[in-house]
Amino acid sequence: MTTDTDSPSTSPEAAPGTSASTARHIAVLGGGLAGLSAARRLANNGFSITVIEASDHVGGLAASFTKQTEWGTFDYDNGPHRFHTGEEHLNDEVLRLLGENVCMANRQSRIFLFDRFFHYPLQGANILKLPKRVLIKAFWDYFIVKLRSLFGKRLKDENFENWVVNRFGRKLYDIFFGVYTEKTWGIPCSKISADWAAQRITLLSLWDTVKKTLFRPKNVPRTLVSEFFYPRHGGIGTLCRRYAEELEKEGHTVHLNAPVTAVEVENGQTVAVRHRTADGGEVRLPCDGAIATIPITKLAGMIEPPAPQSVREASAGLKHRSMIFVYLILDRPKVTDDHWIYLPEQRLTTHRLSEFKNFSPDAAPKDKTLLCAEITCDYQDDDWNKSDDELQEIVVKDLTDTIKLIDANEVLMTFSRRERYAYPIYDLEYRERRDAIIEFIDHIGRLETTGRQGLFKYNNMDHSIGMGLAIAENLVGGGRDHKEVATEQKWFG
Ligand SMILES: Cc1cc2nc3c(=O)[nH]c(=O)nc-3n(C[C@H](O)[C@H](O)[C@H](O)COP(=O)(O)OP(=O)(O)OC[C@H]3O[C@@H](n4cnc5c(N)ncnc54)[C@H](O)[C@@H]3O)c2cc1C
Repeated sequence: MTTDTDSPSTSPEAAPGTSASTARHIAVLGGGLAGLSAARRLANNGFSITVIEASDHVGGLAASFTKQTEWGTFDYDNGPHRFHTGEEHLNDEVLRLLGENVCMANRQSRIFLFDRFFHYPLQGANILKLPKRVLIKAFWDYFIVKLRSLFGKRLKDENFENWVVNRFGRKLYDIFFGVYTEKTWGIPCSKISADWAAQRITLLSLWDTVKKTLFRPKNVPRTLVSEFFYPRHGGIGTLCRRYAEELEKEGHTVHLNAPVTAVEVENGQTVAVRHRTADGGEVRLPCDGAIATIPITKLAGMIEPPAPQSVREASAGLKHRSMIFVYLILDRPKVTDDHWIYLPEQRLTTHRLSEFKNFSPDAAPKDKTLLCAEITCDYQDDDWNKSDDELQEIVVKDLTDTIKLIDANEVLMTFSRRERYAYPIYDLEYRERRDAIIEFIDHIGRLETTGRQGLFKYNNMDHSIGMGLAIAENLVGGGRDHKEVATEQKWFG
């Protein structure tokens, strides 16, 4: 093990968990949006920053990559990433980062059901294209739940299934919410916490949709909600790359290929972190405090002295769903106008398909298309371990035989990426377990955990940026509580 010789000041003054206005050197664990936004805000306020990132790139889940091929250059993300927020200051922050490198896109998503495509969320006359028997049953079931509700006979909102059935009726649960969720999460909906539905499903009343369909007011202007901005070049990962460039330009450090292995605590205070180096060594970095945005399950296991048994058990019980991104380069200018298409049906292995050219026209050469098929799985299960050839066979079969979107002989190239910590699984016990770990960390001085991974929260990019900025502002003195970000429904609008 070596020690960082040029590590910044180790002033023992204030740091995370204290009134930190005079803190000096902060180690930021993880180079995704939460870590880098916190780092940037702290750097602006006179802190010295070292960001320590395990992989060979910044961006985390919101990273982007570039593929140079004989047909030209392709930019692609970890599945589709659309930035939107109800918070003006976060909008401004992202626009600041992008500068001139920005383009607008009109949001379009569809869902493939009963061998047809429907706009998603269901809109316009679309809903009436559902098979009649399905439509009648959906309305009947919806009527029944409303009636039940009126007489106080609702199911208890104790899990995802009941929550959805209570609000949408059994048929809509069966044809969409249930199948899609089980496919994505890999566990029955009765074992998924209602928290997830409450956060993620916009409460669209079926009747409202029909009213808007049949009695649509004329000349309604297109609202800004249906538009979003996106980097013209470089994919969504541009955001994190810009943060890293800004930090490095001002003399701060961003270590890549440097998985953190330990957080050293002495007398209840964080004093150093250790991370591996590319040559297999280990570096000790003394610090005045640390902000962790890495998976909370990993963090719980790397604190020295070790967390109590109960915390380690809670950590072992928290599970993540993993994801394989299968990318196809196709010999055609365009496949759809969609940003993404949901594929809830169990007969398809792919659960969502996205087309990056529809985010930015410069994401792919004019005459070629890059599609991303997402397959959810568990870490190291059969799917996780499939070769690119096997994955290509599965995805191409989905897209040719069932959805009939492409022709097999148009596929020029396939490659894949894997994300182990894609989704925190909100099972029925997750909240208790997560809170036990957070409580333990809250008692350690100069250590904070935040972001999607650090709070085990199924959030969006704006939330992670909001959490990072909030925690930095806390340390500077004041600001909102980072744990409050993405708790209220308004954040998920
Ligand atoms: C498929 C998919 C699609 C999405 N689509 C959207 C969308 O359309 N709109 C939207 O707003 N949001 C979307 N999101 C969510 C968004 O990507 C996340 O909310 C956000 O990127 C999380 O940022 P973060 O910094 O909190 O966490 P992460 O991005 O997970 O960052 C954590 C970082 O910690 C690093 N790390 C892990 N272990 C260690 C270690 N031991 N040492 C050092 N570093 C470590 C990781 O490599 C990673 O870089 C999507 C997510 C997924 C998975």
